[in-house]
Amino acid sequence: MANYNPYDNMLSVLESAAQKLGLERKDYEALKYPERELKVSIPVKMDNGELQVFEGYRVQHSSSRGPCKGGIRYHPHVDIDEVKALAAWMTFKCAVVNIPYGGAKGAVKVDPAKLSKGELERMTRRFTTAIMPIIGPEKDIPAPDVNTNAEIMGWIMDTYSMLHGYAIPGVVTGKSVDIGGSLGRPEATGRGVSIVTREALKHFKTEGKVRIAVQGMGNVGSISAKLLHEMGHNIVAVSDVSGGYYNPDGLDIPAIIKYSADHKLSLEGYTAPGVKKITNAELLACECDVLIPCALQNQITAENAGAVKAKLVVEGANGPVTVEADEILAKRGIPSIPDILANAGGVVVSYFEWVQNIQELTWEEDQINATLEKIMVRSFKDVEAIVNEKSVSFRIAAYMVAISKLVRAKKIRGVFP
Ligand code: GLU
Repeated sequence: MANYNPYDNMLSVLESAAQKLGLERKDYEALKYPERELKVSIPVKMDNGELQVFEGYRVQHSSSRGPCKGGIRYHPHVDIDEVKALAAWMTFKCAVVNIPYGGAKGAVKVDPAKLSKGELERMTRRFTTAIMPIIGPEKDIPAPDVNTNAEIMGWIMDTYSMLHGYAIPGVVTGKSVDIGGSLGRPEATGRGVSIVTREALKHFKTEGKVRIAVQGMGNVGSISAKLLHEMGHNIVAVSDVSGGYYNPDGLDIPAIIKYSADHKLSLEGYTAPGVKKITNAELLACECDVLIPCALQNQITAENAGAVKAKLVVEGANGPVTVEADEILAKRGIPSIPDILANAGGVVVSYFEWVQNIQELTWEEDQINATLEKIMVRSFKDVEAIVNEKSVSFRIAAYMVAISKLVRAKKIRGVFP
């Protein structure tokens, strides 16, 4: 399989959108480079008495529109180019939905499933101290991403707070509600994906019940599947690392989510009448109307884009469609709703969490969900307006919306010194 560099992917889309906007190179040149890249070594005392050193990163792509913002992922195959791309996507994502943040991302090269709870906690706390000089509520605010969760955010918040001598909940988002997390945050990304899917179906004048395939049953995939199922759609396929599960008549999503929760977040062994076990590749190519990749980047590539049967792709994950695949899908008349719009619900509610933390107040869940709904619909409409006006794809339109805001902010601020 070809080796896709997600940073090159980002640069290529940035370039096309900047050209469509008729920008001069000097207006957007700085967006091609992250403001800061930090690589750290994380020594961890393992349970067997050995010392293991892990590699970690925090990349801050832009702080033009506000503090840097973005998740931390734990993954054995993560590398600096992936983190750089993810950081840039956060910049564009925050700009598309118009929240006052820049973009960042962090990662540790590790398979967390191979660590004990104690090892995971020690690694997280040591990583926090290593990136501490560049994070903080006014500078850069981490959050959960692939393989990280509220418990890990709690360890980051505690480590940072202990070393400062007082509780600083605003240093991370996606924490447990008991320590300053926000109601609605765990569901926010999936909720946003479901809202954007609903709006996209309206845009393409698709009425009634549709067949949806969801790749990945982590936080984003499971909530997206649950909410779209509640909207009355037929979720015909889901998958996780154990493989795919397909039923052309629709899967029982609440039962699947319960099965995963009861089996250490794995669907291994799930069976039900009418359910066929399929591979991940078969899921991406299954008979459906909407395909929602919610796993990792580079899932739909030049090699398998020709096999996609969906009529619409909604990117729940970050960077699941490569540039080459995007072109193939476009030629085949299959539009994609890009990650920077489709999965922005998470960072929107992260923003609400941070606002609650720094103002020391709490919002009700219905207020959070209603404000999220408003922001997602408004953002979709902003992008849709460019699609209609300029006859460009949703991806290019979303980048055009984001880049024009970033270029404006940069112009107003000027180049220091
Ligand atoms: N990791 C999530 C994303 O990629 C959320 C980031 C955040 O809430 O800061 O959008």
